[in-house]
Amino acid sequence: MAAGDANSKPIQIAVTGGKGGTGKTTVALNLSLLFSRDFKTLILDYDVENPNALILSGIEQDKITFSRKVYQFIPVFKGDKCVRCGACVNACNSNALLLPREGPPTLFENLCEGCRACKLVCPTDAIEDGRKLIGEMHRVPLTDSLELLYAEIVPGFEKSGYMAMHLRRLEKTVSREGFEILVVDTAPGAHCDVLRALMGRNMALLVTEPTPFGEHDLRLIIDLVKLIGLESYIVINRSNIGDTSRIYNIADKSGIEVIGEIPFDEEVFKSHVHSKPMVLHYPDSSFTRALTEIYGKLKKIIGDRLK
Ligand code: SF4
Ligand code: SF4
Repeated sequence: MAAGDANSKPIQIAVTGGKGGTGKTTVALNLSLLFSRDFKTLILDYDVENPNALILSGIEQDKITFSRKVYQFIPVFKGDKCVRCGACVNACNSNALLLPREGPPTLFENLCEGCRACKLVCPTDAIEDGRKLIGEMHRVPLTDSLELLYAEIVPGFEKSGYMAMHLRRLEKTVSREGFEILVVDTAPGAHCDVLRALMGRNMALLVTEPTPFGEHDLRLIIDLVKLIGLESYIVINRSNIGDTSRIYNIADKSGIEVIGEIPFDEEVFKSHVHSKPMVLHYPDSSFTRALTEIYGKLKKIIGDRLK
């Protein structure tokens, strides 16, 4: 079955990198734009604390075609039914409940994980469903053949994994609409949320830079992709700002190929300031030329899988 028909699964390429600021989202967005010239493409911004793919794309928020608010369960206590048995307090592993001297338990909303254990154990049905807003998911077309899905959590809500889980569910539904390529921009770092965003993908691009921090975080992200056996390739961004031989050493030792280098390019700064993607507005830049070369290699790698 060919990729692109409604029943086939798209090729899923994660773009990740240990630390923030390596240019991961710039690579993911511009790579998506290149893919969309040949394939129906969906880009997913899993950096739910700081989603900026839309800003970098230059597309205005009024072009959003779909939005969905995401809520989390919180318990609401019915004082007249509560017999103050304390069962809910004991069942709460998050220490979000406290039984005061009088009245029903008190909820510390920020600690609540929404697991519903308190409601399940209550013997008198004294807990009703409440909800709190934790964020919103959006869908927006960037070009005729490229769409963006992203989510943002409300300021102060710390459980980004919960929001990412909802985005993954939406991704499953939307990706069945004949998309051939999924480009997944993960959050920065090498933590649980990044691992979850990488799980089940076909391959990952590890974006790094030739600096001590870049090397350190590349090692961490390599450990992560090895842990889940994910086919990966290294992209050295801003390759002329440091000693790339150290990155090649790490690549050799880990058995992961460096698929390309992208030199430092001042036009990238302008592209960010003016929200004008590199491959659309700076087609002759060294960034665009290098990324187009990487795109060509990727196309060859995934070519057979798309037939
Ligand atoms: S929903 Fe879970 S985390 Fe929240 S108060 Fe109830 S038991 Fe605790
Ligand atoms: S389990 Fe129910 S009855 Fe017991 S303290 Fe909690 S709300 Fe009250």
